[in-house]
Amino acid sequence: MSKQKVVVLGAGYAGLKVVKQLQKKNLDLDIILVNKNNYHYESTQLHEVAAGTEPARKICFDVETVADKDKVMFIQDTVTKINREEQTVVLEKNDPIKYDYLVVALGFVSETFGIPGVDEFSYPLVNITTAEIAKSHLDETLRNYKESKDKNDLSIVVCGAGFTSIEYLGEITNRIPKMAAEFGFPESDVKITCIEAMPKLLPMFSEKLSKYGIDILKKRGVDFKVGTPIKEIKKGIVVYEENGELKEIKANTIIWTTGVKGSPVIGESGFEERRGRVMVEPDLTVKEYPNIYMIGDVSAVMDKDSGRPFPTTAQIALKQGEYVADNIENRVLDKPITPFEFKSLGTVASIGNNSGIGNVMGKEVKGYIGSIMKKSIINKSLLTVGNTKTLLKKGRFDYYR
Ligand code: FAD
Ligand code: NAD
Repeated sequence: MSKQKVVVLGAGYAGLKVVKQLQKKNLDLDIILVNKNNYHYESTQLHEVAAGTEPARKICFDVETVADKDKVMFIQDTVTKINREEQTVVLEKNDPIKYDYLVVALGFVSETFGIPGVDEFSYPLVNITTAEIAKSHLDETLRNYKESKDKNDLSIVVCGAGFTSIEYLGEITNRIPKMAAEFGFPESDVKITCIEAMPKLLPMFSEKLSKYGIDILKKRGVDFKVGTPIKEIKKGIVVYEENGELKEIKANTIIWTTGVKGSPVIGESGFEERRGRVMVEPDLTVKEYPNIYMIGDVSAVMDKDSGRPFPTTAQIALKQGEYVADNIENRVLDKPITPFEFKSLGTVASIGNNSGIGNVMGKEVKGYIGSIMKKSIINKSLLTVGNTKTLLKKGRFDYYR
């Protein structure tokens, strides 16, 4: 009899963690991993690549550093559809693959909410390609000012004020003085605006902590507009609403960070979803499809305490990956199954290289301590999804920069 096939889609935090754990178990299973690229990237550091404070190679490593060639068949390809009834996965270049167990971990894409002009005229930060494009555009535009003298070349708008936006602002405000010297533009003429729809900034933190973080960015020249939803993006223009009136800001760099949704493959494959996420069963499988697991940013897991799904984070994606590997083992070995449980350890947002704000295990952290916490979290994540080699090569040990 042929071995049962476990097919894992996506080599992000969730998918790679499943593979890493499952291959250790030496079960009588064929493990197949499919990923668009032959590398894993640390999505949590995309803002650094987009701002140009770290090169892409710093946050990437080969999938095969983790997926053992003797135990895992790696297919570099793009998944286009999952056929649930036939139990097959359709790929762009290769023949469809059949599965006995399927782990869907295809991650996130940018959420545009259907706002006109977003796709054409703004830059999202959702993968290595988009982060590198955003970086090249920023560099070219700022460099161009010396010739163009167009003040909009020095105007940057960051759309939304969630964590991605705040972390990106932290990085660019760190880098601008260096770029001003290199590209020959007056630093004081740079205009950075962050436009947020909601009336309050960083509502998940206490008033004091949120103010601490925002004040750092304000001191570095960021102008925050709150309660001002963006309605349209035109070439070099952001249209937003303020007190019932439509207003415009001109900027030749527009960064789009108003949130994320799960992979479009989920909807295209007919799963019951909301914003690309499937509300999963207690064992992270899909209702009526007990051999399909949905994990990471394509899943919604209910937090009983808040009555709302947990925010999509690398932290929960890694825990889900570990759980699914154990769950498959238990099923194969006919052992009892326990439901997935998650308790967040907290959140830290960096504000450039040497500051940060957050809550860690119920305690607030800020400033330099916040930055150390953030770097320790990055290092722990590298060790959890990768190994000691990836940690030593890609880890953050520049605590005093
Ligand atoms: P991903 O990490 O997105 O991985 C998905 C993988 O699937 C990728 O390798 C991708 O190439 C591949 N893939 C996608 N589509 C296809 C396809 N069709 N075919 C084949 N392969 C495909 N969370 C935290 O916990 N802490 C943080 O500090 C933090 N910081 C963040 C900073 C930024 C700038 C952003 C954008 C997010 C941050 N997050 C953070 C959230 C976190 O990055 C995500 O929740 C996490 O990446 C989800 O993991 P995942 O494995 O589901 O998906
Ligand atoms: P988000 O959804 O957390 O924030 C997006 C922000 O954009 C929100 O404040 C929202 O009100 C605003 N917005 C939405 N539509 C708008 C509009 N039309 N006009 C103006 N503002 C608008 O998204 P994110 O920051 O990209 O984060 C995505 C996920 O990744 C979240 O789950 C987040 O927790 C996680 N993340 C975590 C960290 C961290 O832990 N350090 C860092 C980055 C991202």
